Amino acid sequence: QSTINKIAAGEVVERPSSVVKELVENSIDANASAVTVEIKEGGISFIRITDNGKGISKEDIQTAFIRHSTSKIKSIEDLVTVSSLGFRGEALASIAAVSQVEVITKTYDDITGVRYVIEGGKEISKEEIGCPEGTTIIVNNIFFNTPARRKFLKKPATEGAYVSELINKLALGNMHISFKFIYNNTIKLHTSGNNVLKDCIFNIYGKEIAKNIVPIEIKEDDFEIKGYIGKPSISRANRNYENYYINGRYIKSKIIMKAIEEGYKTKLTVHRYPFTAFYIKINPELIDVNVHPTKMEVRFHNESIMYSSFIKGINESLRKIDL
Ligand code: ADP
Ligand code: MG
Repeated sequence: QSTINKIAAGEVVERPSSVVKELVENSIDANASAVTVEIKEGGISFIRITDNGKGISKEDIQTAFIRHSTSKIKSIEDLVTVSSLGFRGEALASIAAVSQVEVITKTYDDITGVRYVIEGGKEISKEEIGCPEGTTIIVNNIFFNTPARRKFLKKPATEGAYVSELINKLALGNMHISFKFIYNNTIKLHTSGNNVLKDCIFNIYGKEIAKNIVPIEIKEDDFEIKGYIGKPSISRANRNYENYYINGRYIKSKIIMKAIEEGYKTKLTVHRYPFTAFYIKINPELIDVNVHPTKMEVRFHNESIMYSSFIKGINESLRKIDL
């Protein structure tokens, strides 16, 4: 069982940023309005995620760490319409299989909370404690029991940069949640969670970018796109600033990537890639989500409409500004 868990864990846990992604998504699913992520040594030795979400009850804490246990879907049919970020019930089991995990959590209804420690998939302790509502999960020493995998990690600075990049994406995708990111005892990011996109962009990317974006709004029968696109003056040499979300989920889509770049191409740009923060709302029945444990690739049933309306919207937005 423990070997199987370790192998399966490799699918979910690749590096510190994949742990952070899973844990923050759990916080979002738990309806947290504030999430704090703290890491040390790029997350290799220490990750702590604190949320003020609904918490896990004493009765459920052990089950939460069992593979394929999820409280989020009841049947396979739910997969098509699932709105929560998690649904495979693999993350906690996988993370605990390859690291040392401590959870402190309390639900709104319970008077006391629970502290649960599990290392390398082995339960160490479970005790009742007093704590605030919500959940804190500490993950120490990723891959402490799989040295071969630990060797594949990059330098702490590189791993930390991946985490930082991920937090930016998650914060931008969830502007109703206040995110705080602490790296080596320094606050690197603090978003207000006031649900105003421009403020969120300012919090994450700073004044230069927040001042040089134009709104975009596209309405079609089957979907709607809202957000901002950066002026050509703040374009980039890489895709790191292309952000897009479908129904609240940060995803990858080749067709959107192509449309963004095609729509931008006709402008006299300094670099090829724009800053974007696009939010697509679409009936889930009109997309296919290819669920790979570490990424999500979305395909649209009608790709050509998506493609052309993106380009049209981008062109309209850019036409409004002085180039
Ligand atoms: P999944 O998210 O796919 O359901 P996970 O392994 O990530 O699976 O989590 C297992 C279960 O633990 C979740 O279904 C949820 O009930 C509970 N859980 C995990 N993290 C949190 C959290 N931060 N707050 C509340 N419940 C949580
Ligand atoms: Mg999850």
